[in-house]
Amino acid sequence: MSDKLYDSDIIVIGAGPAGLSAAVRARRVRTYNLLPSSVMVISNHAPGGLADWTKVRMTGDGWSYEKGKVIEKLMADIEDYSIPVKEEKVLKVEDEKETFRIITDEGEYRSLAVIIATGMKMTWNEREHFGDKLFGTLKGYRFMENYFKEMCDKEEGKTIIFVGTEETERTVEFFKSINNGRMKVKKVFDNGKNIHGYEGYKDEGIKVLTEKGEVVGDHVLVDFESYQLSSYTADLVDCEKDEEGFIKTDGRCRVQDGLFAAGDITGPPFSLAKAVGEGTTVGLESHRYVYRKKFDKEAPVFAFYPIHQEGKATYFEIPELVDEYRPKLLASYEVDEEFILFRECSIRAKESNLRLLKLCDGEHTLGDIRGKLGDVDEVIKKLIHGKDLTLEV
Ligand SMILES: Cc1cc2nc3c(=O)[nH]c(=O)nc-3n(C[C@H](O)[C@H](O)[C@H](O)COP(=O)(O)OP(=O)(O)OC[C@H]3O[C@@H](n4cnc5c(N)ncnc54)[C@H](O)[C@@H]3O)c2cc1C
Repeated sequence: MSDKLYDSDIIVIGAGPAGLSAAVRARRVRTYNLLPSSVMVISNHAPGGLADWTKVRMTGDGWSYEKGKVIEKLMADIEDYSIPVKEEKVLKVEDEKETFRIITDEGEYRSLAVIIATGMKMTWNEREHFGDKLFGTLKGYRFMENYFKEMCDKEEGKTIIFVGTEETERTVEFFKSINNGRMKVKKVFDNGKNIHGYEGYKDEGIKVLTEKGEVVGDHVLVDFESYQLSSYTADLVDCEKDEEGFIKTDGRCRVQDGLFAAGDITGPPFSLAKAVGEGTTVGLESHRYVYRKKFDKEAPVFAFYPIHQEGKATYFEIPELVDEYRPKLLASYEVDEEFILFRECSIRAKESNLRLLKLCDGEHTLGDIRGKLGDVDEVIKKLIHGKDLTLEV
């Protein structure tokens, strides 16, 4: 391991159901002696992804969630574990061997592992307009034809804006064959780099905000099928892709050393259940990878991975608190008169403990801290057991 510091053990790109599940699962390790990983999420817009636009079904009607509810549940854990979510667009991910460099439109970050969970398309604030001025098309559904017919009958003279990739041309042709010139048609092609949001226009209309300016109309139709045909979010990383450009993974969401992918970005089927399932898998797998890299030991995640799998006597030991580790506080805390209160544990509100917490910033080594404060191992272990602190190298 080089001397270079990194920002977070694991960086998750994308805050849809796959990315958020991955972040929670990587951070929320429950075994009492297991050190948590530090996790950061980066997403171009507020958390949600596609699963936030409307009611979604996990398997069928019996297991479904009203608009916004899936993300609300995932965000409750993200907040409980103080997982930082940065609203930035990731432009490039580079493998620097020991670490990954994640370049965004606002800066750059480094991590030991990266999870790509960028979905099939970049999402912005579509959910605010979905079902009102903004709709989604899937031509495979027979009802699209009826839907187009009804719209052309009712909205004659109004403007419809088709949003999608170059493939949207085919949907536009289909629409035109039903429209017979009644509605005006506009097109906004989006390769993942063109659109950056939607806005209401006057009382009735809607604007598509693009790199080249605004496109105004009365309705927007997002052509999902065009986005599903090939990946438009995977070009930020060089790795093995399938013929359509989706990221190739093994059965456990691994792409290559330290690089993982989950959800729609790994290709069809495009589904919430798959996104959450892969997100959970990738969270655990990335955590195991990081643990091995940092402590040269298997992580004892034995509820999920049988302990005899790679079991050795050392399996249950907390890694030794060697001087080179840099403790990093993962949680926020409150101070009352007597105690410093964390989510699941508390420590005495002594001056030395408050100073210790300030030094647990991932930059000071345990050796530095011991030099300044003396023996702090017991407090550090308590915070580790409460999953509020991790050790970096
Ligand atoms: C209207 C609608 C209804 C649906 N209904 C169902 C249903 O009932 N059942 C079902 O199983 N599935 C349903 N789906 C599909 C399901 O929502 C998706 O399969 C699921 O959301 C995929 O999750 P994901 O996390 O992989 O991707 P997404 O939800 O797409 O999240 C990916 C996130 O990453 C962000 N991102 C992309 N590129 C970058 C970048 N460069 N930098 C930073 N961030 C980036 C995206 O903007 C997005 O926010 C529905 C989808 C829609 C649109």
